[in-house]
Amino acid sequence: MIDCPVCESQKFESLFALKGSDVVRCSDCDTVYVPSPLPEVTNLYQSQYFSSKEGGQGYIDYAGEFQAHAKVFHRRFEKIEALKGGTGLVLEVGCALGHAGAVAQKRGWDVVVTDISEFAVQKATTDFNLKGFVSPTGKVPVRANTFDVITAFDVIEHLSHPKEFLRSLHGALRGHGLLHISTPDVGSLSARIMGRHWYHLKPDEHLVYFNRSSLKTLLENCGFEILKMESSRKTLTLRGVLQRLRRYAKAAVDVSLKIFEVVGLADKEVSFLSGEVEVIARKLLPATTPTEARPTRCGSEGILDVVVCANCEGPLKQVSEAEIDCQSCDSTFEFDEGVVNLSRYAKRSLRKAVGRLS
Ligand SMILES: [Zn+2]
Ligand SMILES: [Zn+2]
Repeated sequence: MIDCPVCESQKFESLFALKGSDVVRCSDCDTVYVPSPLPEVTNLYQSQYFSSKEGGQGYIDYAGEFQAHAKVFHRRFEKIEALKGGTGLVLEVGCALGHAGAVAQKRGWDVVVTDISEFAVQKATTDFNLKGFVSPTGKVPVRANTFDVITAFDVIEHLSHPKEFLRSLHGALRGHGLLHISTPDVGSLSARIMGRHWYHLKPDEHLVYFNRSSLKTLLENCGFEILKMESSRKTLTLRGVLQRLRRYAKAAVDVSLKIFEVVGLADKEVSFLSGEVEVIARKLLPATTPTEARPTRCGSEGILDVVVCANCEGPLKQVSEAEIDCQSCDSTFEFDEGVVNLSRYAKRSLRKAVGRLS
């Protein structure tokens, strides 16, 4: 049982039960959340999450929506660049198949991507030649004061402890670095009209539903100042829109989709308010903080320049083709085709005694 993830109040009213989970609203700040989340299933985010024929959880054909996604991400990075005055080193958290990272790289950013899904990071780094690492859930083990910008699109609603997560992003930002997040807005028109049928309500995946005011409170409590907060506009093909509506009326959607394919309209792009809110916030620093001089790109070591040990935050060193060792504790991480996996580790001392852990 967790307290309100924003204000820690223990007072709430039950809204409804959905897919075996209770959904409640905090009586003090109106954040909607799942107080007893089912055990976090990282397996959910393996390959079938991004391409499932039935479209139950996740996406039906995420990769096929690249062009439409790219429009959304170009708009977001345009806004970031306008506020920052150019490009720099960006960390894309919750990178999925790397579409946002690819867009940023194309616009001239030095990009590092991360996700809790090994499948997603491998695909993102291979398809788009990005640098990446696999994160443990809710944690981003990177060097402090490193990134100019961190983006986390549709991530915080998946976490039971968004405060810890945002504080760690705050530490990873350099100087007055910028954070761009997007998340469902439970105060949006679509949420208010659709109630328990709102398409963002998925208590087995989305554990917290912010409104604008609770999101602002949360960010300010984590050391950020809000620069911009606005409704999110998404672009999708008609095929993508229909696939998302399939959970409401499967047969009708399948028929419409066939018709659209036949008359050649399925690839037509439409733009609409998605019931999500986008925020760009700036890291606040005490006035006396000295600004640390750091390289603005990932250097010769690539990904090893920015990641740290997931257990102790110590420096990491590559010791063989497939292994990265922590220099401060006993942990060893897997290195696979340029991707460090920080979600699993082995103890070197144990391995020596009992043989290789897998
Ligand atoms: Zn609250
Ligand atoms: Zn360590």
